[in-house]
Amino acid sequence: MERFIGIDLGTTNSVVAFLEGQKPVVIPNTEGNRTTPSVVLYPGGDEVVVGELAKRQLVINPFSTISSIKRFIGRRPAEVAETAKQVQYHLVEDMENERLMIDLGWKKVSPEEVSAEILKKLRDYACSYLDTDITQAVITIPAYFNDSQRSATKAAAEMAGLEVIRIVNEPTAAALAYGQNKDKSEIVAVFDFGGGTFDISILELDNNIFEVRATNGDTYLGGDNIDNCILEFIREEIKKGIKKDIMEDVKAVQRVREASEKIKCELSTLKSTTISLPFIISDEEGPKHFTREFTRDEFNKLAMPLFERLIPPCRAVLTDAGMTPSSVDTVLLVGGSTRIPKVREIVTEFFGREPRKDINPDEVVAMGAAIQAGVATGYIREVLLLDVTPLSLGIEIADDVFSVLVPRNSNIPTAAVKKFTTVVDNQKNVFVHVLQGERKQASQNRSLAHFRLTGITTSPKDIPEIEVRFSIDANGILNVSATDLTSGARKEVKIESYHPVKTEEVEQEVKEAEGKLDEDRIYMDSVRKGEKAKNIMDGVKKFIAENELDIDPADITAMQEVIESLEEAFEVGDVASMEEWARALYGTAEKYQEKFFKYNVKPWK
Ligand code: AMP
Repeated sequence: MERFIGIDLGTTNSVVAFLEGQKPVVIPNTEGNRTTPSVVLYPGGDEVVVGELAKRQLVINPFSTISSIKRFIGRRPAEVAETAKQVQYHLVEDMENERLMIDLGWKKVSPEEVSAEILKKLRDYACSYLDTDITQAVITIPAYFNDSQRSATKAAAEMAGLEVIRIVNEPTAAALAYGQNKDKSEIVAVFDFGGGTFDISILELDNNIFEVRATNGDTYLGGDNIDNCILEFIREEIKKGIKKDIMEDVKAVQRVREASEKIKCELSTLKSTTISLPFIISDEEGPKHFTREFTRDEFNKLAMPLFERLIPPCRAVLTDAGMTPSSVDTVLLVGGSTRIPKVREIVTEFFGREPRKDINPDEVVAMGAAIQAGVATGYIREVLLLDVTPLSLGIEIADDVFSVLVPRNSNIPTAAVKKFTTVVDNQKNVFVHVLQGERKQASQNRSLAHFRLTGITTSPKDIPEIEVRFSIDANGILNVSATDLTSGARKEVKIESYHPVKTEEVEQEVKEAEGKLDEDRIYMDSVRKGEKAKNIMDGVKKFIAENELDIDPADITAMQEVIESLEEAFEVGDVASMEEWARALYGTAEKYQEKFFKYNVKPWK
């Protein structure tokens, strides 16, 4: 049998699993651990060290030991300026390709290359554990990774010698592992709070059919932020006592960072612990030590602003799914940061129920990835997975109107087709502008791509049929095509990046769109009025041109005068005047109304 693996490529730790029969099994690494730190050390030359050994070098070799690389994969330099301050290694911009690179001093490596080293290591563990060569994998990513992050993750896997059978969202993978072979229907909330990101998804499980109803989260909220918050606290405490800033000493910062994570983890089981940092910094008098008791209450207070950021995405995801907290039957906790008691408390309070305790938050995602690999290769047949799009997708049509083809939270894979036409006579080409967002006005949404379809059969406006098709494949990749159904002319584009960059952006956009419903309504009303006025004007003009000899010349003069005023109203975009003059025009020409049908001129209603 062809072997395949499922990999949870985590910000902090990574896990690899395979399918034994129909059951996912986690593969231990050579140290016997089931999770491997996502840390890569470049000691020099061709040597690369991955995992626990590399992690131990973070203090000694801060510039050549790379951690949290997932925060940088597929990102542009401008997007990560803030996050870059939280790591010790040097992130630089490769000016030629506008790419982010890590400068090790003697060479530069890309985030994909670093990630590839982690994936290679996991693949090696699996190959030796299963004693066979493995070339296929399902890799998980946060639900809100944009397309560039997805593509970069895929590229990293390929560098590691793995063919990516499927990229799957982490919460979806977790639900798969939880729900496989459960022959009941339930609504599951997957609360995934890891080292770098927070994802919340609502899924409907129904006898091995997994439907993602909605997903939300925060790509800039994870355990690393909590560590950083403790680090800042210790830094200030040291400053108060010793009057020295640890930031001046890279190794001291790394030690404090490590201590911060350790303290955080200890406070998940203990009510109080000791921060102990001997020889943390030196002044004129010599080396200084820092010791302090730190309680869970203090920790909770300190990290509360971060914990509070967990709630809005939970609210938003339920709204999107059309549910309330009580609709949720089961809450699954995924990711190491869900071990924090306060986080569990927040989850319990929000959903009004205790989360499941029988799920290993570190392993469940990789297990789901292995199941998904089984599904994708046809090895498991009875599981069906339906994922969703985070924001609406569509095209711009006349008057800056956004026509939606794929509404937000549609299940993927999906396809949608709509027919459009031309707006002027003998139009030879159409401009297809693909957008994403929730506003009715196209220019208020995010532009994704545009192309021109040429070779349209020459005919009066409104006659050609241009079929626009959107299709999103199982990996979330979007294809848009436009076809003139008469001439057969066709153009297609693959959208490079349609996933919103940040979760906050999604939330913000939806909120903004909701707040602007009245504005959108007024806009759409003015568009409709403009269209109506233009139809009357164009129709009457055509009527005059084709029936000049049968119309009383005085009527023609009167109509033309009104047309002039109407054109002026169009020029300045005055909708009230458009309406007024279009009504007047119809009034001036009303006696010819039996002929108007041919010119599509209708009374103003
Ligand atoms: P993941 O991305 O799921 O591997 O989660 C890693 C994050 O979980 C890191 O920030 C860890 O510090 C954090 N973590 C792991 N164990 C614990 C724990 N017992 N208490 C608090 N945080 C933890």
